[in-house]
Amino acid sequence: MKFNKDLTIDRAMVIYAHPDDAEFGVAGTMAKWAKAGVELTYCMVTNGASGSQDPDMTREKLREIRYAEQRAAAKILGVKNVVFLGYEDGYLYPTLEVRKDVARQVRKFKPDVIITMDPRYRVAEFGYVNHPDHIAAGEVALRTINPDASTRQMFPELWTEEKLEPHKPKALFLASFGAEGTVVDISDVIEVKIKALLVHASQVGPDVAEFVRGFGKEIGRSAGYKYGESYEIILLDQPPAVRARKRARAASAGTTKTARGRRAAPKSAPPRARAARAARGTRERGRRSR
Ligand SMILES: [Zn+2]
Repeated sequence: MKFNKDLTIDRAMVIYAHPDDAEFGVAGTMAKWAKAGVELTYCMVTNGASGSQDPDMTREKLREIRYAEQRAAAKILGVKNVVFLGYEDGYLYPTLEVRKDVARQVRKFKPDVIITMDPRYRVAEFGYVNHPDHIAAGEVALRTINPDASTRQMFPELWTEEKLEPHKPKALFLASFGAEGTVVDISDVIEVKIKALLVHASQVGPDVAEFVRGFGKEIGRSAGYKYGESYEIILLDQPPAVRARKRARAASAGTTKTARGRRAAPKSAPPRARAARAARGTRERGRRSR
């Protein structure tokens, strides 16, 4: 699939901390890419076993429920491969062990694009403290690009014993929390996104649909779409021609570029903040992971 003139995507990997993170963040983009024939892989780093306030629930039971929910959601979206690394939910650090496990998957599936949550995101003005597992998983995803998956002498046993050659993706997509960056038009797949999210019944209720529509609408509006998901896209090891084009674009625009190449309109308040205020009820219903 040709994403734009600088990037063709045949395979993509989503690296996130918890089952359901991808559905909240990037499921519209995934549904769209799956339709376009991109081979998609989810690499879920933790087991989701902390995601309940029910005193009768156990970590063991919940882990299995969340794996099943994630597999079902992936099926709805057309995500071909779902890998669970099984680290304990809530206890994640970007250790060498986690880094090696993620690098193994990247070398195995050879994605053109890695999608993850920006690990620099810590707090939001609407009163949200980002989950540390999200930060750790994002950190590992960045480290896998350089050096873990791409460097032959990093974890050399992956190569010498498991025969997994080094691999470097073409691009990194950092999922954004507002409309900054590049907005992907998800208008024709918003209902698929909601359907996939609702499968995570241990985490969300029916009112999540309203939250997702509100959030997607705010992001989409800035680019002239009904619904959108936005990314900071980093093209890795860009050839000189691409760098020159980007410099020229930046000089002529001076504002946020969108997927259509239009200038984003200035906004009175960050859309994520507004969407989140509108959906606070959903947020406080007992979900903890996002
Ligand atoms: Zn999460």
